[in-house]
Amino acid sequence: MNKLVCGILTVILCLSACGAFAEESKLPDVRWTYPVSLTEIQSKYAMLVNADNMLDEDFEPDPLVKVTDVKRATSAAVYLEETAAKALKEMFTAASFVTEYVYVNENGKEKTATYDEETGMVLYLKSGYRSYGTQSTTYANYLARNNNVDDGYVAKPGSSEHQTGICADILNADYAGRPTMTQDFKWTPEAQWMKENCDTFGFILRFLEEKEDVTGIKFEPWHFRYVGKEIASYVMANGMTLEEFTEEAKEAVAEFESRGGDVEEQLAYEYSRLNAPPESYVLDELGEDGDAEVSLVF
Ligand SMILES: [Zn+2]
Repeated sequence: MNKLVCGILTVILCLSACGAFAEESKLPDVRWTYPVSLTEIQSKYAMLVNADNMLDEDFEPDPLVKVTDVKRATSAAVYLEETAAKALKEMFTAASFVTEYVYVNENGKEKTATYDEETGMVLYLKSGYRSYGTQSTTYANYLARNNNVDDGYVAKPGSSEHQTGICADILNADYAGRPTMTQDFKWTPEAQWMKENCDTFGFILRFLEEKEDVTGIKFEPWHFRYVGKEIASYVMANGMTLEEFTEEAKEAVAEFESRGGDVEEQLAYEYSRLNAPPESYVLDELGEDGDAEVSLVF
């Protein structure tokens, strides 16, 4: 059999196999059209915590792990939820391979930061998980220091994302040594590199400078929140807050259901796609079988 016929048979075989996959995973009649999957929207990593969406006093991340092998800006041990801890380490490792980075300084001038080949850019973990009790103390102490004025810098107990264990405050060497974190951290190459690259690791810059009215929290160039890669890339590409994303996603679900979409069916479909063998699997088998005769048997 000549190569052309063999090729055509291969294509037919592939198409029928792909068709079989689609049938197995029951492509829902009503299509989910929002750019972020329903699975990610419903994931625990998408949880919204703020003054209007408080955590219970007994909420604890699970599993909670001690973050090791990263530089810290504190002598205390730092804990994070396991997946967020893994993602954070990946981000710190990626930074360590950066030996040159172009950033904009406080005068609006482009500068190039250069780093030691051995260490690369070094990030410092300042804090991660904070219990409800710790946040209560932090809040009370801050109010005492700030003439009893709640200016939005320290979250009320239950409304702090730090209780989720999936966010972290991250600094550079200079700021790690300072007693307080200040917004001018944004002019550092480390802050700008993190803002530019955090989504690759599933993080978002949670409290944006131009969105203080939406978050109710002042701009924090050091506070990164884990949401998973899919949501992170969407949120960062669109300059959104988690509040805005949550609202938009809620509307997307409502719109989907109004068209007759079934949430459970869509979740099952996404799950099956996640676990479906890659389409190349079929082609690989064919390749191993080799010649035209095998194709003819099929
Ligand atoms: Zn923070």
